[in-house]
Amino acid sequence: MKDYALIAYAYDKSVRIYVATTTNLVEEARQIHNTWPTATAAFGRFLTASAMMGLMYKKGERITLKIKSDGPISSMLVEANPEGEVRGEINNPEVYLKYENGPKKGKLNVGDAVGSGFLYVTKDLNMKEYFTSSSALQTGEIGDDFTYYFALSEQSPSSVGLGVLVNVDMSVLASGGYILQLMPNVSEDIISHLESVIAKLPPISTLINDGKTPEEILALLSDQTHQILDKKDLSYTCRCSKEGFARSLSALDEETMHDLIHEDEGAEIICHFCHKKYHFTKPELEIINKSRKKRG
Ligand SMILES: [Zn+2]
Repeated sequence: MKDYALIAYAYDKSVRIYVATTTNLVEEARQIHNTWPTATAAFGRFLTASAMMGLMYKKGERITLKIKSDGPISSMLVEANPEGEVRGEINNPEVYLKYENGPKKGKLNVGDAVGSGFLYVTKDLNMKEYFTSSSALQTGEIGDDFTYYFALSEQSPSSVGLGVLVNVDMSVLASGGYILQLMPNVSEDIISHLESVIAKLPPISTLINDGKTPEEILALLSDQTHQILDKKDLSYTCRCSKEGFARSLSALDEETMHDLIHEDEGAEIICHFCHKKYHFTKPELEIINKSRKKRG
């Protein structure tokens, strides 16, 4: 099944619901970044929330989300856009932490792997300036942290559910999430009804692993009151290019450029997001250097 998200209204248009399956894109991210299980779960949840959030923007706009924290993962960055494309990077992908005790014993301990810190959201709305807002992480479990972010920074009361199941061979078995956004016209009755729906709902990764589609999960969340507005494919997509990196090279200072040309006699650049390698030969660097000088 392809990854996709549904955007819908429910409960008489008083709640907006996003539901996403992201098993393939999180598996792709795992393979690119060689994440270990707890890092896979944390990064996967972050990618999933970001992918759904990206759909809240208009064509041509994009968002960059960053988590900076004191846990072993230490930082993660994701870019998302309304086309359903995400790409990201993770500072320490080699994290495999489990709960040692308590009811979650044996499960992946995402909260401790992320730790305390902040979630930053930078919006590129095609204006001269970028807009950044941030909020403190609540549990490091990502879902709670987004719920808090939406309430605090966007004044949009929401409930965010995210989940990633990792297989014994470390591959991604199931991944997905939902965001419920309460519209200003929502009634107290519907809010308390939603609370009981969410409390009864099995983890979203379990639902996806059981073969439930986003349509079926949406029906559970909306109590069949939904009206689908849009369906969007989701993917891990990196649009890096040799031309893009040539532009970055042309921004280097004279000395660094001189060393690349005369000492290294070439340059190899690896994209942080997709790990694709780009090689620039000495003559190519000389051309980049000349165009840089012409521009002054
Ligand atoms: Zn790339």
